[in-house]
Amino acid sequence: MRKKILAANWKMNLSAADAQEWITNFSEANRLYAELEYRLYAPSIYIQQLTDRKAIHVGAQNVHSMDLGAFTGEISIPQLKSIGAQSVLIGHSERRTIFNETDALLLGKVEACCRNSFSFIFCCGENEDLRNVGEHLHLIREQLSGLLGQMKPEQLELLTIAYEPIWAIGTGQNADTHQITEVHAFIRSMLMEFFGEQGRNVPILYGGSVNAENAESIFSCPEVNGGLIGGASLNATHFLQLASFLQ
Ligand code: PEP
Repeated sequence: MRKKILAANWKMNLSAADAQEWITNFSEANRLYAELEYRLYAPSIYIQQLTDRKAIHVGAQNVHSMDLGAFTGEISIPQLKSIGAQSVLIGHSERRTIFNETDALLLGKVEACCRNSFSFIFCCGENEDLRNVGEHLHLIREQLSGLLGQMKPEQLELLTIAYEPIWAIGTGQNADTHQITEVHAFIRSMLMEFFGEQGRNVPILYGGSVNAENAESIFSCPEVNGGLIGGASLNATHFLQLASFLQ
């Protein structure tokens, strides 16, 4: 059976000292749920200090599609691997909207992950306007068709998908259980359309204002295999509290 995943996305938050305190608190906490995979997507400058502790799967929040070269300010997958990073987020809505990352550019990053056998979480999700006119599934299909069309069945184990409605990220307004159930079922059906039974093995996470008050109902929706957590992940104790709702 596939493991459930609880992933923290710190975004551009916390100092190096805060990162150290977080990982110390996480390491010393009593983590009861061995069948849960905890992940931490940290600013790249902290990755080495975090991987040195060997307490949690650590990933990057972004990566370049090339393996090396004249790309000032960028970081490659081989470089991430060399400091112990284990995966990367691709297509977070903040990358798509604030940094204008297009589907074509994101597919280049997916290709780099596949070429380097590097795991990734591919984020998708609609904005409020599309949700209001009922076009959200159309957008999800558009965001995922290129990805699924490009991947080979033997690369599928690298993939996790996160459904993150943009209107729910950092707003305190999470999607309701009907909305989450509909989209997660749709994503699962797309995975099976492209990969048959193998599509059942890809974890699908929900992200968007998950906290201790709403985690129980969100994580009990069918086809929710874990969570990608922003604000509520900045404190290790708060983050770990969410684990009990993923059992
Ligand atoms: C995110 O940034 O991926 C996210 C889900 O943030 P938040 O939990 O703060 O909405």
